[in-house]
Amino acid sequence: MTITRDTKTRQKIEKAPKERPVSPEKKQPSVYENVQRQFNKAADLMDLDPSIRQILSTTMNEIIVHFPVKLDDGTVKMFTGYRVQHNDALGPFKGGLRFHPQVNIDEVRALASWMTWKSAIVHIPFGGGKGGIQLDPRDYSEAELERITRRFTYALANNIGPEYDIPAPDVNTNGKIMAWFLDTYLSLQPPHERQRCVHVVTGKPVESGGSLGRDKATGQGVVFTIEEWAKDNDFDLSNSTYIVQGTGNVGSWAARLMKPHGAKLIAAEDITGAVSKPDGIDPDEMAEYVKEHGGVAGFPGAEAIDHHTFLSTKCDIFIPAALENQINGLTASLLDCRLVAEGANGPTDPIGDKILQDNGINLIPDVLCNAGGVIVSYFEWLQNKRSEFWELEEVDAKLHKIITCAYKKVRDTAAEFDTDWRTAAYIVALRSLETVYKERGIFP
Ligand code: NAD
Repeated sequence: MTITRDTKTRQKIEKAPKERPVSPEKKQPSVYENVQRQFNKAADLMDLDPSIRQILSTTMNEIIVHFPVKLDDGTVKMFTGYRVQHNDALGPFKGGLRFHPQVNIDEVRALASWMTWKSAIVHIPFGGGKGGIQLDPRDYSEAELERITRRFTYALANNIGPEYDIPAPDVNTNGKIMAWFLDTYLSLQPPHERQRCVHVVTGKPVESGGSLGRDKATGQGVVFTIEEWAKDNDFDLSNSTYIVQGTGNVGSWAARLMKPHGAKLIAAEDITGAVSKPDGIDPDEMAEYVKEHGGVAGFPGAEAIDHHTFLSTKCDIFIPAALENQINGLTASLLDCRLVAEGANGPTDPIGDKILQDNGINLIPDVLCNAGGVIVSYFEWLQNKRSEFWELEEVDAKLHKIITCAYKKVRDTAAEFDTDWRTAAYIVALRSLETVYKERGIFP
């Protein structure tokens, strides 16, 4: 994550290029349209009940808030924040908060829908939601980011809740921001209610009620699914090479957790640029370097490469762990790997999907691959509700059990419908939601 921790770091990050090195197209396609296309493909194939199809193809609630924040220089700036609640048939709305200049209602709708499918695929009792604020965190001091977070929480407070809608970290947000969010929410509750509300947000620092293992959970889930794929394909991870796009929470943990398998990280890219090192980048050293310098650019001993060279790197596994639409009609044919393991949400658009399939590249779709985050968020939520504190081994073992079970369900559904894994993952989710709607009926 790129939120600044002190003035020194801030100055360094400010030197990082503001322009993204990726996606040469100026205008990003609608991400929500991608979701609808993926959804429709699965709904057609499984012959989803038309009424349920209508319900699930729309979001339930969309909240847009405009709120003022006083900046360090005394001026006041208006910010726009979003929270989209896609569906709560299986449990409370659940999903992260993103701070990014590209945050908009279309993107948040897409991200909220993916959360609904994800929770259903891994069979945890949550629905789908997502939120964010349109801003570039590199433009603000830590004190300003705290005031922005608190004022956003205040603006949303009546529309979230520990049993209703539970945010978590996402791009450019982290445990510290979740702690500010929690503190603000609790301050707005009557004193005798406060201790009952700690599970209003997950991804908190451990001391503030977070779970052990939440920090690495998404990356851990990515690696657990890669392990399953390797077993299924008789593939030796210890002799493998991989590349990572995004060196934040998900990318950096996924990279570090591949290391014990003996896999070699040969290229990495983030907002500061891309680097290549064919004899291997140490993921732990890379994480330290990124913490200090704000990104991988200039990583010692590595060669700077451009975006297309990065994507064209010959490797076994590509882990996109940054933003949406990175693997698209213009870029998918560059990939020279056996497997794409989607750590990010929506990194591949429908045209990209088709190209990967035509080129025989396997794909573990985002709604399965990166579900480790929401699974351990669920564990955090349960621990808070029960006033328990689980050991890391327990968290990891439970995460492993849930995500490998979901992996097998998706794999078997792909075989049953003779379809690609993304469509199969959607079918797993839609079957579960269809059953629930049919059992409960539609009020009145
Ligand atoms: P983060 O803020 O910690 O890291 C984001 C990374 O992406 C940074 O390294 C940043 O430099 C890089 N990046 C941003 N723009 C880029 C660009 N244009 N080109 C290349 N790199 C770029 O965020 P994160 O939490 O690691 O989230 C990354 C992805 O994973 C997002 O799609 C997010 O929705 C998804 N995800 C996150 C979680 C979680 O638990 N944090 C869970 C599930 C899915």
